[in-house]
Amino acid sequence: MTAYWCALAWLGGERAESGVLVEVEGSAITSVTPGEDSPPRDATILDGLTLPGLANAHSHAFQRALRGRTQRGRGTFWTWREEMYRAAGRIEPDTYLALARATYAEMAMAGITTVGEFHYVHHTPSGAPYDDPNEMGRVLLAAAAQAGVRITLIDACYLHGGIDAPLEEGQRRFSDGSAEAWAERVDDLDESGSVRVGAAIHSMRAVDPDSAATVAAWAREHDRPLHAHVSEQPAENEACRDAYGRTPTGLLADAGALDASFTAIHGTHLDAADVAMLGEAGSCCCVCPTTERDLADGIGRMRPLVDAGVRLAFGSDSHAVIDPFEEARAVELDERLATGERGNHGAVELLRAATAGGHACLGWPEAGRIGPGAPADLVTVALDGVRLAGYDADTVLDAVVFGATAADVRSVLVDGVQVVRDGRHGIAPSELHEAIRAVTG
Ligand SMILES: [Zn+2]
Repeated sequence: MTAYWCALAWLGGERAESGVLVEVEGSAITSVTPGEDSPPRDATILDGLTLPGLANAHSHAFQRALRGRTQRGRGTFWTWREEMYRAAGRIEPDTYLALARATYAEMAMAGITTVGEFHYVHHTPSGAPYDDPNEMGRVLLAAAAQAGVRITLIDACYLHGGIDAPLEEGQRRFSDGSAEAWAERVDDLDESGSVRVGAAIHSMRAVDPDSAATVAAWAREHDRPLHAHVSEQPAENEACRDAYGRTPTGLLADAGALDASFTAIHGTHLDAADVAMLGEAGSCCCVCPTTERDLADGIGRMRPLVDAGVRLAFGSDSHAVIDPFEEARAVELDERLATGERGNHGAVELLRAATAGGHACLGWPEAGRIGPGAPADLVTVALDGVRLAGYDADTVLDAVVFGATAADVRSVLVDGVQVVRDGRHGIAPSELHEAIRAVTG
């Protein structure tokens, strides 16, 4: 048994608790006792505000290589996509392992204990499978294990270059040829204590409605999370309306995809009927504001979604930055810009989305909370730096959500294992630098 004494901890309520003793047996929390004024002698002291593990519910690890390379110049989502395909075309299993493990280490340093990797770079650049058709997926699982984070590999079905359009050269390695072949490949991926496997319909541009139904049926039969990129761009909505007379959300509903295990990624350009459908299904929306603003996607309106019954989660997606605090506050602050109103989402609602909400949509409903039976994930934000000076127990949650950065994360435990200590991870930043240089030349 190991004991941790948190000077302040957020246990899921409206305010932080003082003097919280957390007892851990193996990988799980066994007891949580607030109001312990001083640390017991044997306890490890966690000074600062301790949060449950944060979930990054939408990641494309290879896109970390684009940071600083695609922000300059003019263009749109669609010109960015060309550069992204060039990066996707250059990775191979060995370089991807190095890049993903160092990217996941960056996530761990930001307080992320679970990553949802939306994976579609499956095959060799020509489209032929590797000797092990799941080589790239297994590389990502190894990368997460080496970085010390939990992973849900959200294996994406990606079949077409657009609606009724063949794959472009840069897209060939994404496709299994059919949804049936996708399912056969994914059936071979095993889960373990720190690995879960989910399904994705890449988008209603890249997957036709019949194939989407096959993927949705697979997810339902196997009781796995199902994700899809949904209405990130107006052009995606127009293409679906022109071809099928339905929005992407409508098509997903027709395919049987919408239920409580479904997560719409982005949801930037939803109409009222889409919002109602997602709400009725009790689905989740994973908003990725730092990427959406980088790609000029637009501002997703999350308040109507939450009011309709949709749960929220956050993702760093293209990793323009990896900072869950920036992601969380952007949901509120961008919505202020779009609506002219403040206070659409409070700090506690945003923290719940960043922790329990993200974990639930990745298939880890037991994680993202500090309580008996939960995995021992403890993320401690230092409060002694200049950014958070002036906090008190009443204001600390708002101070952290609206003022902290990833650099304020000092200690991270995942499943009872200390992965980040004094702000440092065993995988050095130089490894990330080298890994990116290896795939960008
Ligand atoms: Zn994405």
